[in-house]
Amino acid sequence: MPNKNFDNCVSFFIDNGAFQGRLIRLNEVVNTILEKHAYPRPVSAVIAESTVLAAMLASTLKYDGLFTLQTQSNGPVSMIVVDVTSAGKIRACAKFDEQRLEAGQTLRKTSGEIEPAPHLMGAGHLAFTVDQGKNTELYQGIVDLQGKNLTECALRYFKQSEQIDTNLKLFLLPPQGESKTWLAAGIMLQKMPLKGGAAVDADAAAEAWNEANVFLESLSENEVFDASLSSADILHRLFHGNDLKIVQTKEYSFGCRCSRDKLLNTLSTFSKEDIASMVENGKITATCHFCSAQYCFDPGELIKQ
Ligand SMILES: [Zn+2]
Repeated sequence: MPNKNFDNCVSFFIDNGAFQGRLIRLNEVVNTILEKHAYPRPVSAVIAESTVLAAMLASTLKYDGLFTLQTQSNGPVSMIVVDVTSAGKIRACAKFDEQRLEAGQTLRKTSGEIEPAPHLMGAGHLAFTVDQGKNTELYQGIVDLQGKNLTECALRYFKQSEQIDTNLKLFLLPPQGESKTWLAAGIMLQKMPLKGGAAVDADAAAEAWNEANVFLESLSENEVFDASLSSADILHRLFHGNDLKIVQTKEYSFGCRCSRDKLLNTLSTFSKEDIASMVENGKITATCHFCSAQYCFDPGELIKQ
């Protein structure tokens, strides 16, 4: 039975609308993504954490189309892609070198263990784009993959490129004991832009922001992953004295946008030689990187022109 307390984003305001926040808790979405891939545990962890970060970043933008978070780096996990559509469909995949991953972990005596994402990614960057279809701007944000974890990396992005004060915290719980279930979550607070002309007591505003962040930081792993608590329950616990207003709940589910036609179009751009080299037993089989769906083609379909 899916737990209704997960796989959604709850948006809220506190302190009379001065600060806006989001709480995202993922279960089913992350587990469906990971079941499609069978990645080693350390790579699964990077995917799970990147997925909640992508959902968080996407939730701060108004868009109608596709949000994509993509990392590119020189470490064993050299690429992560997470797509979040405006309808809440999420998919993700990783590119990694299993030998380098194992060699690095053996050297650090962390074989098979979960390590902070930047350790496995190495040096590089995290970028995101918003694609709203033809004739629309492709919005792009980018930040170096620096910091001891993905939370720090995301905070660097907000510090560098957004004018808005932001705080966020990401959580990850790998499968425990017999369980195969991964859980990922994140909470974020942002200062709302000041309304023009409003008289503001700067000291009081700074104190309110600091206090709200103390409450955000107080959220524990046990609490955020407690399946018996709804996100509203958690927010009431944290911010009950801060004039909490929950404004919206958005649901997420796994969804891949691949299709036979799309793959056919991609493969049709390959050279005749490349296509010929892909033929096995008279057929070409292509696998979707995101959902591992297999599509089968006749070579003739691809080299007609
Ligand atoms: Zn697919």
